[in-house]
Amino acid sequence: MLKHQYIRIIIVIASFVAAIGYLYDYWSIYWFVLIALIGLGLTAWGVFDIRLGYFGKTHSKASRNSSKQVSLTFDDGPCPYTNQVLDLLDQYDMKATFFCIGQQVLKYPEIANRIIESGHSIGNHSFTHRKDIAFSKAGEMATEIQLADDAIAKATNSTTPMYRPPFGVTNPNVIKACKASNKQIIGWSIRSLDTVIKDEKRILNRIVPRLKAGDIVLLHDTSERTVRVLEQLLIKMKEMNLQSIPVDRLLKIERNG
Ligand SMILES: [Zn+2]
Repeated sequence: MLKHQYIRIIIVIASFVAAIGYLYDYWSIYWFVLIALIGLGLTAWGVFDIRLGYFGKTHSKASRNSSKQVSLTFDDGPCPYTNQVLDLLDQYDMKATFFCIGQQVLKYPEIANRIIESGHSIGNHSFTHRKDIAFSKAGEMATEIQLADDAIAKATNSTTPMYRPPFGVTNPNVIKACKASNKQIIGWSIRSLDTVIKDEKRILNRIVPRLKAGDIVLLHDTSERTVRVLEQLLIKMKEMNLQSIPVDRLLKIERNG
């Protein structure tokens, strides 16, 4: 919490000392430039790595639990592939969380409803998933969250306390919008890169060797490839005696209703 504020103070003090050093001819101007670059680099890292919780509290992992529980999470649906994901989860008796885009929920309300009816949970993943959403003002982001909440409520008659920012990007406006919307920010501890990597074995190898109790895995229910990877993953999870449960249960977050 407030990490960026501490780092900002340290960078400002260090820049001030470097500037004084430069003025009195003790240090070269490069020290000043170096400190500014470090400051920028740390901020960029904080923006793109949700696991750091750099700008405010994010949940990226649960503490290790003896019951060998993890959470599989699926972003960017619902869409027709979601049905195949749900079939597989049923077959292997696993529960997951789907971070849904509001517009997709309006398009496929019956699939969103099936998610809830099957005992999984839904999280909010914005209404439009716009590429430039990270540059929006806090008020605009809160509207995106509200519109997605409305779509989820209409389709499933349920609400969610969870928000996952598109692309995992966090910044002070995301934190403000989530506070105003009463949402917990959910990240991940294992990113499968299933939308980027074409080779299914490589995707699986990014997950299985690292997977242990408490982990939150990021997948996308938007392609045939992920469906095939999921089947292999579920077989491995059974062998490893790992059980997927909805991420709000893993993190012990209370549902709004
Ligand atoms: Zn997304």
